Amino acid sequence: MAEIKVHDKYFVPWLSEEIIQQRVKEIATEINTDYAGKKPLFIGVLNGAFMFASDLFKNIHIEAEISFIKLASYKGTKSTGQVITAIGLDMDLTGRDIIIVEDIIDTGKTLTEFLPQIRNQQPASLKIAVLLHKPEAMVHPIHIDYCCFSIPNKFVVGYGLDYNGLGRNISSLYQVKE
Ligand code: 5GP
Repeated sequence: MAEIKVHDKYFVPWLSEEIIQQRVKEIATEINTDYAGKKPLFIGVLNGAFMFASDLFKNIHIEAEISFIKLASYKGTKSTGQVITAIGLDMDLTGRDIIIVEDIIDTGKTLTEFLPQIRNQQPASLKIAVLLHKPEAMVHPIHIDYCCFSIPNKFVVGYGLDYNGLGRNISSLYQVKE
């Protein structure tokens, strides 16, 4: 695979479609085992997680539901600072086994601010499944229950992740060329 140009930057091949699909299947198998006899509700975080959530969910063979939300961040008051709001979070989560499906955890800020909104609804359990995690970038530590790949602190595109709105349709992952 050769380097590609997305918007104004060059990217080099990083994780092939085969490797991603294999790992997503492994994570799905773990979830199938861990949630046997339960009916988890997957909550995919748009836009970045759409491909991962779809492939993961195709490999879930227990009874399960899926829904999607979009996280928007806006400037709150001086005391609240930046506020994360979830668009489309209209399901009753009380007593449910929730699995949040995210594309990437970078600093951890987004989920750290968003997770209390889920916990407030008193789910029976709450776990996090992520495609990618950048341990070196983590500022707000989050416990990740299911992680496909831990990666270096470099910008990646493909498999649902974008650079300036582009690159989401690439079925493998590319890393920014330095
Ligand atoms: P955090 O709040 O954990 O710092 O940021 C998470 C969000 O930042 C992700 O959901 C994603 O939208 C964006 N992000 C962080 N790193 C990357 C990256 O390497 N590539 C892309 N495309 N998005 C990233």
